[in-house]
Order: sequence, then structure tokens, then C-alpha cells
Amino acid sequence: MELARTDFYLDGRWVTASDADSIEVQNPATEEVVARVPAGSATDVDRAVSAARAAFDGWAGTAPADRAQALHRLHTALAARSDEIARTVALELGTPLKVATRIQAGLPLTVLRGYVDLAGRPPAEHIVGNSLVVREPVGVVGAITPWNYPLHQVVAKLAPALAAGCPVVLKPSELTPLVAYLLFDAIDEAGFPPGVVNLVTGTGPQVGAAIAAHPDVDMVSFTGSTATGRQISHLAADRIARVALELGGKSANVILDDADLDTAVKVGVGNAFLNSGQTCTAWTRMLVHRARYDEAVSLAAQAAAGYRLGDPFDPATRLGPLVSGAQRDRVREHVVRGLADGGRLVAGGPDAPVPDRGFFVAPTVIADVDPDSALAQEEVFGPVLAVIPVDDDEHAVAVANNSRYGLAGAVWSADTDRALTVARRMRTGAVDINGAPFNPLAPFGGYKQSGLGRELGSYGLDEFLQTKAIQR
Ligand code: NAD
Repeated sequence: MELARTDFYLDGRWVTASDADSIEVQNPATEEVVARVPAGSATDVDRAVSAARAAFDGWAGTAPADRAQALHRLHTALAARSDEIARTVALELGTPLKVATRIQAGLPLTVLRGYVDLAGRPPAEHIVGNSLVVREPVGVVGAITPWNYPLHQVVAKLAPALAAGCPVVLKPSELTPLVAYLLFDAIDEAGFPPGVVNLVTGTGPQVGAAIAAHPDVDMVSFTGSTATGRQISHLAADRIARVALELGGKSANVILDDADLDTAVKVGVGNAFLNSGQTCTAWTRMLVHRARYDEAVSLAAQAAAGYRLGDPFDPATRLGPLVSGAQRDRVREHVVRGLADGGRLVAGGPDAPVPDRGFFVAPTVIADVDPDSALAQEEVFGPVLAVIPVDDDEHAVAVANNSRYGLAGAVWSADTDRALTVARRMRTGAVDINGAPFNPLAPFGGYKQSGLGRELGSYGLDEFLQTKAIQR
């Protein structure tokens, strides 16, 4: 059955879109159209921004404890929808249901819970000489988000912006807009003042660009590709609006010669293939010391062969489809080019069998990848791992840093001091040593062309605050 939403959330209620154009939402596992949502326009963005602007003084002046209460109500309303959220993301994105439940539905709740706490205790004012230094909300925030973690990426912007006292206008990805509707059902139930949170669906060039260029949007918080981030920066630069950018990555997983190889390779492959490789922090380059290289390549091939492709709703499925036909084609082209550039196929590949229907790519491992080749330099965003030999720690650091990106990474070694030395030298926003767990309160963001600013925890809240000095 096809679901149709014809409304936006503006000024505290659901309102009918100003025109009848719609966007089809596809189930990537079956290629069927499962829903339609309105294709918004610059006029809809104007309405949303006006509502947010009108709400600014009231929300900025609301006591932190009351903002925390509102976020707490939102947490309760969202938690009640967990199962529906996981199923919706499995449907519109293709994440296997088990992973969708744990990450796509679970992570946003953890992040939101953290901001309930942080909203109630805003950064303290402090004194510098004769100045009182105060922090204030930056203003109206435009949030533009991608499809790969479609609720997490929204909550990672909306929760800290609201905690800081900023009203928000959200445009979710047109490929996965359905989960945003569930979020706004929860927002409606939680009861925010009118205009504090607004939703306009539509395409990037129509709605996204209108938000980024809007004179009344004080800050644009964007997650997506580096190419789009660049365009958004240009649009915001005209009026010197603040931007926060979470962009692409090509992260290195550095496996030193004294590492626990079985674990390092198994966890490394799992990380590279999470969400069918559609993860900005994915460790897509595995750098292995020559002494252990052949062993690592064969372990990686074995691990990849264990990933069963299929229906995201089947509990036996470990790898779902890619989000769209275009994405599937792009990923296949990367694989073909990687092999033409001298890579050695050890698992998967463009001709490996995949289900007849759906946008599937077989889990692929390519060894002997030239660190300067396209496969080692460009973000693939699919289940494709490049394995590269390195001579020693020095060489590993040089290859890891041979990237225009710098979002995440990993180091494996039996000697944690040695791992820490390598981690400190990696030009990237995060490094995990020996598979240490993700910390949702730690700063998240990129060096180089992976972005500007940080999300999550108190660092994420800081992005939405201005700093004022009052001299006395
Ligand atoms: P994208 O850049 O195509 O789209 C992201 C969002 O921007 C979508 O909502 C889209 O509609 C909008 N958009 C597109 N063109 C626009 C324009 N001209 N003006 C304004 N908005 C526009 O990216 P995507 O394909 O949705 O997502 C994949 C990319 O996101 C990957 O490169 C990935 O690395 C990156 N990503 C980064 C992070 C991070 O935190 N660093 C997280 C997830 C994804």
C-alpha cells in the first residue's frame, strides 16, 4: 500500500503544502514506490522561516529547565515510536531491521537524552577582567540532512539547536523523508511553542538552497556530500551566516604488525560494510603492515563472504541494498575503475551474484590498492573495502593522511602507547583504538574537506551559541 503525506509542519501544526507537486519514495529492496511526500518550494521555506523568526525571542527567552522539559517530552514521544522508526528506515533506506532498531532508532534516542541533560545546564557565564561573558542562541537555524542515518542526523542538529534556544527549519533528504514525519508527529505530541520546529520536505536545489540562501536564517547546519557543502557555504557566505558542515570521509583503519589480526580485520570489515557502506565515518581503507598483509587480505575476504545480502526485514540478512539505483550504479563504477587501476579482487566484485530486484551490490574487498588511485581517494559509499600494504608506522601515518578527507579512523596494536602515537598523528576528527566503542557525547566532525564544526555532546551545543562580552 502506498502512503501519501501532503503536509508540512509549520508554526506548530500540520498544514497542506502550497502546491500539489510530490516526490516518490522508493523501497530500495524491491524498487517499488511506497510513499509520496510534497515537493516544497521557496514559498514554503519563506513561511517556515517567518514562523521560526517570530518564535525566536520567546524560545531564546524560555528558561533552560523548560526547554529541557520540552526535549524530555519529545524523548518520551519518540521512544514510543521506536519500532515504527526502525521499520520505516528499513523500508525507505534498506538498513536490515536488526541494525535499524539498534542504530537508526536507538542512537537518536541516546543523543536526545544527552541534550535533555545539557539543555537544563547551559554553559556558565563567566568573568574576564571587567567583562561578563555570556552565551546566547545564534538565531534561526536551517538544518539540511542526508539519507544514510536519516533520524540520527536530524536529531544531532535539532536537539542541540533547541537546547541552545534556536528555532529550527528542517529539510530532510528527499530519498528518506518518512522518518522525519514520525519525528514531527512526536514533536507535535510533545508540544513545542508554534514556530519553534518546522518541517519542509523537497529537493536540495529547491528547498535546501532556499534555506541556505534565506536572509532570515542565521545559521545553516548541513550534513551531506562535500560538493553540496561547498555550494551551501557559498550561499551562506553572501550574508556571512554561520555554517556547520558534516561532510564526506575516506577513513583509514591502520593495523600495526602487533595487532590482534582476527579481531582487527573482522571489526574493520564490519565497520566498512555497516549500513551497506553508506556511513560517512566508514573505515574504507584498511592499511596493513606488510608482515601481516597476506593474512589480513585472506581474513577480510572470508569475513566479506559471510555477509548475506537480502530483504532488510529478514532476520538472516546482514547487508541490505543501497539507497537508490543511482547510488548502486555509482558504487559499481567505482569497483570497475578500482580493478582497472590495478586493484586485486578478493571478494565480491561487479559480477558477483545479487538478488534480482533491489539496488544491491555484493560485499567487495579489493587488495593491493594504490593509495593515490580513485578507489583510495574518493568516497564510494557502498560495501567496498580497499586494502593497502604499508611498510612501518611512519608509512602508515603518511598513507592514512594522504586524503583530502579527515573524518574518522582506527588504529590496532597490542601496545596502546604505540597506537596512541599513531592516532595523534592522524589528521582526522576521530580515531578509535582497538575497537573502542562510539561515544555519543564526544565531539564528532571533520578535519580538511570532511567539514567545519563539531556535533554531539556539549561541543554540538556550542555550535548554536554566540558569545557576548559585556564590559562593566
Ligand atoms: P547530498 O549532499 O546529496 O544531500 C544532502 C542534503 O542536501 C539532502 O537533503 C539534499 O536534498 C540537500 N541538497 C542537495 N543539493 C543541495 C543544494 N544545492 N542546496 C541545498 N541543499 C542541497 O548528500 P547525500 O547523498 O544525501 O548523503 C551522502 C553524503 O553525506 C556522503 O558524502 C556522506 O559522506 C555525507 N555524510 C556525512 C556525514 C558526516 O557527519 N560527516 C554523515 C552522513 C553523511
